[in-house]
Amino acid sequence: MNILKFIENFPDETSCRQHFKNKREAEGIKCKKCECTTHYWLKNKWQWQCKDCKFRTTLRSGTIMENSNLPFLLWYKCIAFMTMSKKGISALEMQRQLGHKRYDTVWLMMHKIRSAMGLRDDLYKLEGMVELDEGYFTKGIRKGSKPKRGRGSQVKSNVAVMAESTEIEDVETGEKSRQCRYFKMRVLENHMAGSIEQAVEDNIEFESIILSDKSTSYVNLSDYVEVHIQQKSDKQTTVELLKWVHVAISNAKRWLLGIHHMVKGKYLQNYLNEFCYKLNRRYFGPKLFDRVIIATAKSYW
Ligand SMILES: [Zn+2]
Repeated sequence: MNILKFIENFPDETSCRQHFKNKREAEGIKCKKCECTTHYWLKNKWQWQCKDCKFRTTLRSGTIMENSNLPFLLWYKCIAFMTMSKKGISALEMQRQLGHKRYDTVWLMMHKIRSAMGLRDDLYKLEGMVELDEGYFTKGIRKGSKPKRGRGSQVKSNVAVMAESTEIEDVETGEKSRQCRYFKMRVLENHMAGSIEQAVEDNIEFESIILSDKSTSYVNLSDYVEVHIQQKSDKQTTVELLKWVHVAISNAKRWLLGIHHMVKGKYLQNYLNEFCYKLNRRYFGPKLFDRVIIATAKSYW
């Protein structure tokens, strides 16, 4: 979706509402009260009515827009800007582009879109060969310490990074390389083994093979997947066995630094959701916009 196509497809509020309605119907409307999935559309009210219990569902209810009074057109523009640029966009720049008077409103809208992206990716688990490692992301400066004191004063978040990675062999040269598919990143609560085990259980199918280094917090991972292969951490491991997780970690860090500067700890997961969502759909091109609309049109009850 480029800006000209956007203006053509979504010239006003009604065109956005109609589009959103179609996407919700394609996903299926489920009654919050009785879980019935057959509904009538009340044209004048812009609401669905349950066939069984007559309970009404508004266009926004159940979705991430539920408590928002902002026009659909503003949400649509925001999603368009977020998906149009590969590099991403800061809340301040978004506020400027949208011409909206309040920074915090725009900031919150972007975070809601990021959480919809995260919920969408949570529907899938990684499978097959999965590389696993941890990345350390700066989440702020420790209170009371001077930033100049160097690395000691920075607070770091520990993030589990997982990447589906398949080994392929060149038929002619016999050279082996690893090809990547889907990625996931999870902010860990602490450095304990239990925290990483939970991340593995939540994000990787049991019938998988995990590749990792020999960190002591990984000793029990074979309980959570079929096979766990550990290799001593050295330069070779970094470029071969754990190639894609390391590429993803350094790209995510550069992306965060470039646009979002200092990310507060509790929002880090949301930023990583956006990063992974886009990375996992890197070949979608102009279709990405439509996919994000589908993610926001989903009701979570
Ligand atoms: Zn009902």
